[in-house]
Amino acid sequence: MKRTVRNLVIVLGDQLDAESAALDGFDQQRDLLWMAEVAAESEHVWVSKPRIAVFLAAMRHFRAAQKKLQRRVHYTELDAPGNTQTLAGELARACAELQPERLIMTEAGEWRVQEAMAAAARAAGRPLVVREDRHFFQTRADFAAHAKGRKGLRMEFFYREVRRKHRVLLDEKGEPEGGQWNFDHDNRGSFSKAGPKAEALRPPALIAPDATTRAVLTLVANRFASHPGELTEFAWPVTPEDARGALRDFIEHRLPNFGRFEDAMWTEEPWLFHSRISSAMNLKLLNPREVVAAAEQAYREGRVPLASAEGFIRQILGWREYVRGIYWLHMPRYGELNALGATGALPAFYWTGKCEMKCLSQSIGQTLVHGYAHHIQRLMVTGLYALLLGVEPQKVHEWYLAVYVDAVEWVELPNTLGMSQYGDGGIMASKPYAATGKYIERMSNYCKGCRFDPAKSVGDDACPFTTLYWDFLLRHETLLAKNQRMALQIKNIARLEPAVRVAIRARAAAIQASGGVPPAAVGLLAL
Ligand SMILES: Cc1cc2nc3c(=O)[nH]c(=O)nc-3n(C[C@H](O)[C@H](O)[C@H](O)COP(=O)(O)OP(=O)(O)OC[C@H]3O[C@@H](n4cnc5c(N)ncnc54)[C@H](O)[C@@H]3O)c2cc1C
Ligand code: SF4
Repeated sequence: MKRTVRNLVIVLGDQLDAESAALDGFDQQRDLLWMAEVAAESEHVWVSKPRIAVFLAAMRHFRAAQKKLQRRVHYTELDAPGNTQTLAGELARACAELQPERLIMTEAGEWRVQEAMAAAARAAGRPLVVREDRHFFQTRADFAAHAKGRKGLRMEFFYREVRRKHRVLLDEKGEPEGGQWNFDHDNRGSFSKAGPKAEALRPPALIAPDATTRAVLTLVANRFASHPGELTEFAWPVTPEDARGALRDFIEHRLPNFGRFEDAMWTEEPWLFHSRISSAMNLKLLNPREVVAAAEQAYREGRVPLASAEGFIRQILGWREYVRGIYWLHMPRYGELNALGATGALPAFYWTGKCEMKCLSQSIGQTLVHGYAHHIQRLMVTGLYALLLGVEPQKVHEWYLAVYVDAVEWVELPNTLGMSQYGDGGIMASKPYAATGKYIERMSNYCKGCRFDPAKSVGDDACPFTTLYWDFLLRHETLLAKNQRMALQIKNIARLEPAVRVAIRARAAAIQASGGVPPAAVGLLAL
């Protein structure tokens, strides 16, 4: 006899938390959990193979875990017959077949998906109950209350408020541990010439794919063969157990040095002292409270310096919560902002990593192999180049959403369009993150093996970042001069000789005209 369905509980690919609000009161007899693998979610931007594989492998493991809990699961695999390949299409099919009394879901992580689910429920004539996402420390309403009445928002004030509220890293008087809220100035170290190995760098414990993940890797390799990225090195956490193991490994071996070298980069060292847990948290395999508590405990037990524990906790309790607040406060308009009026195309080499600029080929290369680059590579290499070049922020956003295993729009969009491209005109960051190649030289060893010179802005061997930096300031001088925090950078324009200005503008125009590729050196052209 066909069982009727009371609640059809929607679980999206980034909602893999057995304790999520949508599952409150789940009744094994009357309720049914709904999940669907659909191609549209890998094709609305050109999603990389590692990102598709992380989502599908984690979803299939979640299905197995739910079945073990005796929960009924209505799951459509990617190549199931009749799969319409869209979330809305699959939900409509399930409603027609199962006739549920109502649909229940936790808030989606993307405005577009939330709208699509609401529209599908309306079309099917079913009520949709949307429950608050308990994964985060702060609700969307908490953030709106924080923002209310403020002229401008800054992460630092939000972070202090959240730390006080959740009593994180406070002393017995309720004041910040160590007498200050922020140890940012201790987080900017770079490596000596000997590199990170001299700092006892220990590579992360990688997770070997099990049979379920291997089946997904084969499926993705075949079905999405033309998509960017590789699967040969796939070792991401796809279950809560994997994710906890990755967290333990990080706290023990890399957190002690995390703070000091948080911004540093090094050739052929993709992980350095970073945690690699963003995708596990964003898919909700790992709860941020557990992560923050583990870091705080390591500090209190004397295993980790305060600057490292605080620097790491700030990323999660501060930045991660803050960007989510910004996203929901400003969507859907946020996605269309373009304060600098940038209209350029994304250089084609962002999809291959093949270019002469060593910093870019390293950062993009590891992104395609692993679906990963750390924050400074994203902000001050790939993001910086696109900003200086004048790429349309929506094109940059599409690339970041496609290539990183941790990319979910609520976190990716404010970081990309706002922080790295200044497309929001200062909502996320108080000034554009604009710098010359000298910044990259200071924070990495990339420039050593590169044919360009980071100190030069003109000439065949001028670093394209440095040329484009000056061109960026010249292009936006009037607008940026209004920003107090840009005063010094703008003042320095006056030091450029007129002939140098002309040469910078000409070289920048040549780079822009050739899709972000610097002109070949005269000597090389002759070869
Ligand atoms: C242009 C750009 C795009 C980005 N896109 C994403 C994205 O799609 N998804 C994503 O999770 N992060 C994104 N970030 C933030 C950051 O780069 C990644 O969270 C981090 O590199 C993930 O690696 P990890 O887990 O080793 O992090 P760690 O360096 O070990 O940091 C610990 C954790 O802090 C959190 N965190 C750190 N910085 C940020 C930040 N700026 N915003 C939000 N959370 C942060 C992450 O959850 C991360 O796992 C982006 C940053 C930039 C500049
Ligand atoms: S010289 Fe310029 S292009 Fe080359 S690695 Fe350094 S910053 Fe990058």
